[in-house]
Amino acid sequence: MAVSDKKLQRAIDRLKQSGVRITPQRHAVLDYLLNSMVHPTADEIYKALEGKFPNMSVATVYNNLRVLKEIGLVRELTYGDASSRFDCNTTEHYHIICEECGKIVDFHYPSLDEVESLAEQVTGFEVSHHRMEVYGTCEECKKEAVKQ
Ligand SMILES: [Zn+2]
Ligand SMILES: [Zn+2]
Repeated sequence: MAVSDKKLQRAIDRLKQSGVRITPQRHAVLDYLLNSMVHPTADEIYKALEGKFPNMSVATVYNNLRVLKEIGLVRELTYGDASSRFDCNTTEHYHIICEECGKIVDFHYPSLDEVESLAEQVTGFEVSHHRMEVYGTCEECKKEAVKQ
C-alpha cells in the first residue's frame, strides 16, 4: 500500500469515528489533498475534481473542507485577502512559498519553542502558536526563468 493510501485509510477511519458521513465527494476532496503537495485552494480542488463530479459546486468543496477542518484532518492557511490554502499535513512543520507560482511546500525544522517563550516573557502575552514562512522561487520556476 502506498503511503498516501495508508494516510487516506487513517483519515477515513477518523471520519467514521467522528460520525461524519463519507460521501464520494468528501472522499475525493480528502484523497486529492493527501496527494497534493502544494497546498491547493478550494478553487483548485474544485477544478481538479469537477470532471469526476459534474454536479459538485465550489460551495460543496468549501463545505467538505470545513467538515474536514472541524475534525482536525485539514488545516486552513489564510493569507489576507487571497483565498485560503488547505493543508492535510497536521503535524508540526513549516512552509516555503514560491513567489512566482504561489505553491507552498512543507519542510521540517525543530519547532521554534524558544521564540514562543521569549515572546511570552517580553510581551506578557499568552502565546497560542506561531507561524513562520520562508519565501523564494521553486525549482520549476527557476527552470522556467532560465528558459526565457
Ligand atoms: Zn514556483
Ligand atoms: Zn503544510
